[in-house]
Amino acid sequence: MDYKKYIEVVEDFPQEGIRFKDISTLMQQGDVYKKAMDEIVTYAEEKQIDVVVGPEARGFIVGCPVAYAMNVGFVPIRKDGKLPREVVKVDYGKEYGKDVLTIHKDAIKPGQRVLITDDLLATGGTIDATIQLVEKLGGVVVGIAFMIELTYLNGRDKMDGYDIFTLMQY
Ligand code: 5GP
Repeated sequence: MDYKKYIEVVEDFPQEGIRFKDISTLMQQGDVYKKAMDEIVTYAEEKQIDVVVGPEARGFIVGCPVAYAMNVGFVPIRKDGKLPREVVKVDYGKEYGKDVLTIHKDAIKPGQRVLITDDLLATGGTIDATIQLVEKLGGVVVGIAFMIELTYLNGRDKMDGYDIFTLMQY
């Protein structure tokens, strides 16, 4: 399917020079959103995953329907100060800014097979931090799935040795 025609590209958002890929227009089309999630489920099916992990907020938009369809759990990665129990933290840089990401310390058991999801791969900073959090808890990252990949930012290079799946590329 040509998913790109459902993505709205917004100039200068959230700041000048950024061409923001808005996935909400794709999500509004129920059949297209479902097909996109189904494709990620198909990708993940042969990986025998135990749990899906996604960073806030758009990682939830991809990760939760995939986890639901696969009958496995979902673990949220959140900004500092948002998770209520004991967390593990990591600093990260992203396409426009710096931040701290956290995961509940007991969210993943050592050896669990993890699928990581997000809406978009840009520089790879967010997913690199997410991988670090999963691995700190002893999880094994067996796949990483995005709706969109901005190939010109070379985020893939940060994730050498990991299996990456994307539905569309810019
Ligand atoms: P990275 O850490 O790979 O540089 O940036 C990816 C993160 O920033 C993702 O979590 C994604 O949600 C967000 N992001 C960056 N640029 C865009 C964009 O153009 N569209 C959307 N939907 N998210 C973006």
